[in-house]
Amino acid sequence: MVTQYKNLINGEMISTSKMLDVVNPANEEVIGQVPCSGEAELNQAVAAARAAFPAWSKKSIEDRRAVVQAISATIKENSDELFRLLTAEQGKPHAQAQGEIIGASMMAGAQSTLDLDDEINEDSDERLSRTRRVPVGVVGGIVPWNFPVMMAVQKIAPALLSGCTIVLKPSPFTPLTTLRLAELIKDVAPAGVVNIITGEDSLGPLITGHPDIDKITFTGSTATGKKIMEGASKDLKRITLELGGNDASIVLPDANVEKVAEQLFWSSFTNAGQICVAAKRIYIHEDIYDELSTAIAEYAKNVKVGDGAQQGTAVGPIQNKKQYDRVLELVQDAKDNGYKFLVGGDHDPDVPGYYMPITILDNPPEDARIVAEEQFGPVMPLMKFSTEEEVIGRANASEYGLAGAVWTADPDKGVEIAEQLETGTVWVNEFLHLSPFAPFGGHKQSGFGAEYGKEGLLEFTYPQVITVKKDNVPA
Ligand code: NAD
Repeated sequence: MVTQYKNLINGEMISTSKMLDVVNPANEEVIGQVPCSGEAELNQAVAAARAAFPAWSKKSIEDRRAVVQAISATIKENSDELFRLLTAEQGKPHAQAQGEIIGASMMAGAQSTLDLDDEINEDSDERLSRTRRVPVGVVGGIVPWNFPVMMAVQKIAPALLSGCTIVLKPSPFTPLTTLRLAELIKDVAPAGVVNIITGEDSLGPLITGHPDIDKITFTGSTATGKKIMEGASKDLKRITLELGGNDASIVLPDANVEKVAEQLFWSSFTNAGQICVAAKRIYIHEDIYDELSTAIAEYAKNVKVGDGAQQGTAVGPIQNKKQYDRVLELVQDAKDNGYKFLVGGDHDPDVPGYYMPITILDNPPEDARIVAEEQFGPVMPLMKFSTEEEVIGRANASEYGLAGAVWTADPDKGVEIAEQLETGTVWVNEFLHLSPFAPFGGHKQSGFGAEYGKEGLLEFTYPQVITVKKDNVPA
């Protein structure tokens, strides 16, 4: 019997008559069913969030902080159950699923310590001018399938801390852990403050266009981000867009080959490459290209691809059939063009599950689809470069601007190059590190606005300036 999950609306777990199947990508078996919500459920959830907003927004930030901290603690206390469910629906290996759940708890806990202090603009004999941050109201959160719990929590925590209420929609591919979390936190926040409803992609535009939602915070593809912007333009909703990326890693000739090979591998293949900030193009200086590409390929041969629930698996399946087909198409394109493979390339179509072997390409041209497009899968192109100027130009020649990395024995040189990259984040000698206290966001078609840090929190507020003329009051 397949477990049926429910929506969280106004503090209660509620079913719908129509349900959606959720599949385990490791074996293509149905492992759960979730509500197929439509306009009626959305209207209920938005009405609950709207009704809860006045009291919630008037609570002190300390009271709201306590609720965010209680959510963080609930995630941690239930991490064992949650990470297993996450592997079953998302595919990532147990250790990485545990990392996501514990990480979501930690990030929410850390974000809860942020403050929204007033700022004094002028305090003169004439006037006192002060800016206060006012919560925008009801937030619609829309989440993708690669880090479903982390992304949900990184929207819920700052929304609540700022004084907003939220209606959140997980991806139809990965809604189970989020709905289980909904059940666990249903009594932690007052009824209506957090609402979580699931449905098909078609639920998304209903959220974007809903007249009683004040802001959309979205993480997902650039194509969907553009639709969201269009939908939100009708009533000028505020939007935060965290979109796709085609992140470049640049390895300078002084990098320690032995040390960086393994790290470069995981910067690309963690979560089977399905990370917006994964290294998706790796540029290696020609002096060390042969040595480093051989070291990465050798390392890759010992990494086990398989069911994330099985011990020893380090790379799981691709999360869903649509993405699997897209990655296969990019690999086929590379084959059709005669590009050279260092590792992988051939999958077994008869094995159930969306498995793709670790695949590494040897110096494909810059206009190859696998280089120019976001692959979002376990396939990585390695490319040769000669000069700094050339590689910076190649890294920046992208419609995306999310993140990037520089690997070098000279951190100052790394920073010099980092400052020339047109992206929201650049790592020097590390990868995938996000801080709850630093803004995370993209440039160009990777989106705008930020999550995390003070800037991320401010996105859920608008500035209200109150000015008092001091010398205009009758004595
Ligand atoms: P997606 O855009 O297909 O879906 C994301 C969410 O949007 C899902 O919940 C989906 O149901 C919903 N949706 C679909 N159509 C919609 C519409 N017309 N209006 C409103 N909502 C709609 O993305 P995905 O395939 O789930 O995720 C992969 C993409 O997300 C990749 O491009 C990746 O780079 C990006 N991503 C970005 C970040 C970041 O922080 N920048 C993080 C993770 C993933």
